[in-house]
Amino acid sequence: MSAILLDGEKAAAQIKAEAAEHVREMAAQGMRPGLAVILVGHNPASEIYVRGKIKASEQVGIYSEQITPPESVTTQELLEAVDDLNRREEIDGILVQLPLPAQVDAKRVLLAVSPDKDVDGFHPMNVGRLSTQRPGLVPCTPAGIMELLRRNSIEVQGRNAVVVGRSDIVGKPMAMLLINANATVTVCHSKTRDLPGVCRSADILVAAIGRAGMITRDFVRPGATVVDVGMNRVTDRAEFERLFAGNGKKAEQFANKGSVLVGDVHPEVAEVAGALTPVPGGVGPLTIAMLMSNTVKAARLRREKEAAEAGEASAPVTAGGRR
Ligand code: NDP
Repeated sequence: MSAILLDGEKAAAQIKAEAAEHVREMAAQGMRPGLAVILVGHNPASEIYVRGKIKASEQVGIYSEQITPPESVTTQELLEAVDDLNRREEIDGILVQLPLPAQVDAKRVLLAVSPDKDVDGFHPMNVGRLSTQRPGLVPCTPAGIMELLRRNSIEVQGRNAVVVGRSDIVGKPMAMLLINANATVTVCHSKTRDLPGVCRSADILVAAIGRAGMITRDFVRPGATVVDVGMNRVTDRAEFERLFAGNGKKAEQFANKGSVLVGDVHPEVAEVAGALTPVPGGVGPLTIAMLMSNTVKAARLRREKEAAEAGEASAPVTAGGRR
């Protein structure tokens, strides 16, 4: 293996420690950021994610609460729950855990979250702020990736960046952040022609596809930085062999659990890339860390806005920073 591994756990721990420091500064001014998570029904994966978010809030000192409507909840009931949280002073961040049940109009519910409390950064108002480089809340996964690059001194300005995937949650905001950081950016998707060729033009390649090990060594220019956003659980033996043949540790995991987690990047890419995010332990931990950072930022921006609206001179605030 030649690639340097970009350690997401380490960067996430730093980001959370910084968020905790900002929370302490705010506490000294009598404020405590608050996060509310709406978790509908009993989806086991969602329950694990939410537990992680609540635990991180506790570590950082953010007040958190869970709202847990039943699986049968209606769009109207969720809109009312969001409206209530929008109004509550002690809540700075609202997160609606996806997926929502089929009977719920998820887009309508997400749109109802106040842009000022939209810590996922999904609201069109925050999308617009990001694209016009105004202060706002940026989706956690791509924001975390920018932090990882920065903390590992990976130059972005002037580099060719290729993002594979154009989702609203990862691909598009990732591309926008890279453009804002002065990279030359290409966005690829399922209709892109000669995907390997386009990817080989990348100094920085971000894979956010959702296909296990799709990015093989032919996609990667030697020495490139490769960021693997994908999280795919492999249960098929033939697929496992394609990805991890000869890897004793993974074979043991597969035998014991019947599955292994793999990114969108084939493990062989470690032999050609200059730097690579591992899966697990790369991008995943950053997403929760950035949620903490976004909640602190939301608390600060909202108070600044309220102070400005009230015509008061706002006190100097140091917590957080524009990303
Ligand atoms: P989506 O399914 O919303 O988007 C996938 C994108 O990949 C689409 O733009 C799609 O193109 C593109 N794509 C699919 N197949 C191909 C192909 N064969 N060639 C080129 N492009 C292709 O996924 P998300 O963006 O939500 O997530 C992507 C991955 O990242 C998933 O594995 C997800 O689990 C993971 N993830 C991880 C997070 C973390 O914290 N680590 C957070 C969020 C996501 P098209 O638009 O044309 O359909």
